[in-house]
Amino acid sequence: MPSYNFAAGPATLPQPVLEQVQAELLDYHGTGLSILEISHRSAAFEAIYQSASQRLLRLLKLSAADYTPLFLQGGATLQFTMVPLNLATTHHRVAYADTGHWSQRAIEEARRLPGLTVDVVTTAAPDYTTIPPVPALATDYDYLHITTNNTIMGTAYQQLPKATVPLVGDLSSNFLGQEYDFAAFDLLYAGAQKNLAPAGLTIVVVKTKYLREATDLPSMLNYPALAKKESALNTPPVFQIYVADLVLKWLEEQGGVAALDAENRRKSALIYDFLDQSRLFSSRVAPAARSLTNIPFTTGAPARDAAFIKEAAAAGLLNLKGHRLVGGMRASLYNAMPYAGALALRDFMHQFEHAH
Ligand code: PMP
Repeated sequence: MPSYNFAAGPATLPQPVLEQVQAELLDYHGTGLSILEISHRSAAFEAIYQSASQRLLRLLKLSAADYTPLFLQGGATLQFTMVPLNLATTHHRVAYADTGHWSQRAIEEARRLPGLTVDVVTTAAPDYTTIPPVPALATDYDYLHITTNNTIMGTAYQQLPKATVPLVGDLSSNFLGQEYDFAAFDLLYAGAQKNLAPAGLTIVVVKTKYLREATDLPSMLNYPALAKKESALNTPPVFQIYVADLVLKWLEEQGGVAALDAENRRKSALIYDFLDQSRLFSSRVAPAARSLTNIPFTTGAPARDAAFIKEAAAAGLLNLKGHRLVGGMRASLYNAMPYAGALALRDFMHQFEHAH
């Protein structure tokens, strides 16, 4: 019986990538070294870094003249600090859309910085089941920050807001799995451990214009300094970047972001269509705000939810427990979750409903 990992992150990786990693692990391309042992200054790693950077920009349809990818550490969470430190330098005033827990974490961290005014310009409070519109903004904001997909609440932007100030996005939980006009962003970032690689790597793609002037920020928090050294100001996470390159290659082979978006719609529709007609399971999320990648749902009774999670795990459907803030169940259907996995979950829900 195959098992499927519905975890929200670290999450499932494409099977062919895992197989390639296994096959190459002891001797990377005839170097006589494992990828786990090679130097970040080696020609082999330099080739991996260039390949991953180019694939990333190609998948996002961004030009290498205008955007620079960075491969950093510290998680998406460190970007909650690095983004305002590096970008809030003109007006010292920034706008945030509050659409869930991770938006709130970004707001909290920005508010720790002295001399910065952080305005929450729209909120999905109190129930966080919708994506509220962003109102017209004053022009004296350094940026507007949005979270494209709310991993815990299960909501996502279907269209990016039309921002009149630079747009910054936390794309962690639908990165390269949902189609957006990526060129609308001045900066986007994503923790890798959902859609791209093992934990320990964070992708930042920033307009190159922000990298031209050196700043006196501490170097590990400083985009221009990190970019100048191609993310290798210190030892970068070589293995994670190697896996990212393989996953990016796999994403290109699947047909790129548009194809993955279509496939993720097909997978999530299996679950949403079932929820819409179910007499046992339900979702609180407004249909217009439904996430393609994270689907929270419940039977409405904690004991029955617990039974579902346990029985599902016994049937090979793993990590369906919901986030503690929401409870119930959550199915994460990232790029590497096969259609067969979503189908197996849908069928299991159907079976469980009949039995209860
Ligand atoms: N943003 C979003 C949307 C997330 O889902 C998460 C992690 N679940 C984070 C930020 C934090 O990411 P990290 O653990 O990489 O710091």
